[in-house]
Amino acid sequence: MKEQLRQLQEKALSALQQAADLKALQDVRVQILGKKGALTELMKGMRGLSPEERPVVGSLVNTLKDQFEACFAERQSELQQQAIAAKLAGEKIDVTLPGRGAVTGSKHPVTLVTEAVVDIFSRLGFAVEEGPEIEQDFYNFEALNIPKDHPARDMQDTFYISEDLVMRTHTSPVQIRTMLKQPPPIRVIAPGTVYRRDSDLTHSPMFHQIEGFLVDERVTFGDLKGILTHFLKEFFGEGLAVRFRPSFFPFTEPSAEVDIACVICDGQGCRVCSGTGWLEILGCGMIDPAVFDSVNYDSDVYSGFAFGMGLERIAMLKYGVNDLRLFFENDLRFLRQF
Ligand SMILES: [Zn+2]
Repeated sequence: MKEQLRQLQEKALSALQQAADLKALQDVRVQILGKKGALTELMKGMRGLSPEERPVVGSLVNTLKDQFEACFAERQSELQQQAIAAKLAGEKIDVTLPGRGAVTGSKHPVTLVTEAVVDIFSRLGFAVEEGPEIEQDFYNFEALNIPKDHPARDMQDTFYISEDLVMRTHTSPVQIRTMLKQPPPIRVIAPGTVYRRDSDLTHSPMFHQIEGFLVDERVTFGDLKGILTHFLKEFFGEGLAVRFRPSFFPFTEPSAEVDIACVICDGQGCRVCSGTGWLEILGCGMIDPAVFDSVNYDSDVYSGFAFGMGLERIAMLKYGVNDLRLFFENDLRFLRQF
């Protein structure tokens, strides 16, 4: 029995020393002291001992236990220190390394241009209004003097959701919604997303427009020319040449298209301006009395003008971008340049 105890002690202490980590150490403890452990098994043999031998063996067992516990605690603390040291080594930070600057996003060129246009008109007293992108036929067409048989309604151009609902084809319905909501005088600028069934180098099925309109007593075409010329020079540069050409839109009368001197060739003629030296930049006109009728404004008392332009188009001209699709491809190499 004594010899067995001595062997067990030897075996137990060497197993503790060999335990490679805290889990292995716990396993050794269970193997020796556990309910089914080696020492427990050995002590079952004590029943066969004489009364004189029992206290002697009992004392040996206690010594073994004490030694085991002491050795266990020592090895445990050793392994804990090792674990902490390994963890610290893994998390070591080299404070002398150069910093890795945080990557910040930048605004999309269409957003930048929208903000610039809104800013100029805000300083002229225009307020920003928005409207829904899914629009009723009445606001998108009917109230804007675009009757049922007008070519602008052609299925080629418009995304129809139902007989009465369309993806708005322009921001002009915001005019109608705003005028139905409040009486003149009124000065509004309305940026937004619009949709048309069109896709090539200069057309996208989804693009952005900005619409502006002003209604008051005695508003003239001269006011329209003055405000738009001011805007274009503020946006593209003071020396910019601007011209107004007669045109047609169902919701304005008279109507005009506005050209600016080509920003690429400075009016000399190039591929971008098809050799003309001019670039078409926006459409405008005096609001048609028929539009005032549909929002119950008295066209004998009030007059006003409206204008609209494509934001991608002016972003292309301002930043010299030659393919509209670049704005929608989300290529970071392109977007990071702005
Ligand atoms: Zn040109």
